[in-house]
Amino acid sequence: MTTIKLHNSKTRKKEVFSPIDPNNVRVYVCGPTVYDRAHLGNARPVVVFDVLNRLLRHTYGEGAVTYVRNFTDVDDKINATARARKEAGAAGSLEDLVQERTEETIDWYLKDMGALGASEPDHMPRATAYIAQMIVMIKDLITKGHAYADGAGHVLFSVKSYEDYGALSGRSVDDMIAGARVEVADNKRDPMDFVLWKPSTDELPGWDSPWGRGRPGWHIECSAMARDLLGASFDIHGGGNDLMFPHHENEIAQSCCTNPDGDFARYWLHNEMLQVEGKKMSKSLGNFFTVRDLLDQGVPGEVIRFVFLQTHYRKPMDWTAKKAADAEATLRKWRALTAGIEPAASAAAAVMDAIGDDLNTAGALAELHKLASAGACADLLASAQALGLLTDEMGDWAAVSQAPDLSTYETQMFEARQSAMENKDFGEVDRLKAAFIAAGLEVRMSKTGVELIPTNGFDASKLEDL
Ligand SMILES: [Zn+2]
Repeated sequence: MTTIKLHNSKTRKKEVFSPIDPNNVRVYVCGPTVYDRAHLGNARPVVVFDVLNRLLRHTYGEGAVTYVRNFTDVDDKINATARARKEAGAAGSLEDLVQERTEETIDWYLKDMGALGASEPDHMPRATAYIAQMIVMIKDLITKGHAYADGAGHVLFSVKSYEDYGALSGRSVDDMIAGARVEVADNKRDPMDFVLWKPSTDELPGWDSPWGRGRPGWHIECSAMARDLLGASFDIHGGGNDLMFPHHENEIAQSCCTNPDGDFARYWLHNEMLQVEGKKMSKSLGNFFTVRDLLDQGVPGEVIRFVFLQTHYRKPMDWTAKKAADAEATLRKWRALTAGIEPAASAAAAVMDAIGDDLNTAGALAELHKLASAGACADLLASAQALGLLTDEMGDWAAVSQAPDLSTYETQMFEARQSAMENKDFGEVDRLKAAFIAAGLEVRMSKTGVELIPTNGFDASKLEDL
């Protein structure tokens, strides 16, 4: 069994992972707010935690993992997109338009993330389906003295009532107030207190509650859904490190105050952020793009995944066009090497050890390169598949539309080389090689034969004159 070590943000140490129940390893990852297409940075945690999910299933068994990732489908940003549509003349109530937008975005998200080879989690709960559980939790927090209603439709969590607040991000409440743009409001007993429930207007989505018609604050949904689907104590909680404060601190405060005997999450994993060509991705810099933009430009999902895996999840990663081109060339080579080959019975131990070492995917890729150089094609295939690469579903891009029969050209080259070696004149070999490359073929020559491999730019018409 692969020993799994994970860097736990909670203890700031790499620890040997030991699940509460090896027959049901439970993982919760914060999912997207569904108001628009996922940008490239949104996709990073999806790939990171997909690797974790695969590693856990490899180690404990396919059916021994429960992986939950939520959809936040109630949010001001979603409401704003619906309002914009309404103002542009769309038919239907604002509530219908909100619903339409979330359905459409969830569909996009699953398709785009699927294109990156990310398996769907076991549960993908939507916040709006867990309002009742959230209300139960909020009522409980009020009863236990950790939350209070302001009498005007808001319920707030009292941060001072939870003495470990800030332990995950390692900051004191005073530092947080100084460092964050804390919204000062008359209804807060303390500036750090955060919203559990707030009033909603008649036209926007809202639910009846003991505090009037309203909707939940963002943080409470993860606490309520994690408890419902995974219990008061579960193994791993993941998300981007931009969520550590305030979102994850608030989840911990809510969950640990409702379930003082539970651990909530025992291991916390946070991925670093993504940049593009060395700069922060932003609309104003013109380097903002979605996963769909890249796919539509012809960058295969498998290439995006490969580039992501080259950087350890706890390091900032830089997306560059050069990396994508290099990844594509490598994947083409590996796909050609493993074409028609059955994968080995299991992934190579060195690859699994690297992944098990705090998801060292860069190290795992280095091991794959070694297997490729050694010609260990069956091991290469099985090991790459453990990382979600070289799978059948991901390979469409690499298949050339009409698989051409290149055997006559291969024979022609082989014979040209035979006679060149006899008469020491390589003119014809050079001419053929140049023509093959110009037609978009990769030329591989060995003692036993010649292999021509079509690349992305393969153009059969350029071979006609040979
Ligand atoms: Zn969350």
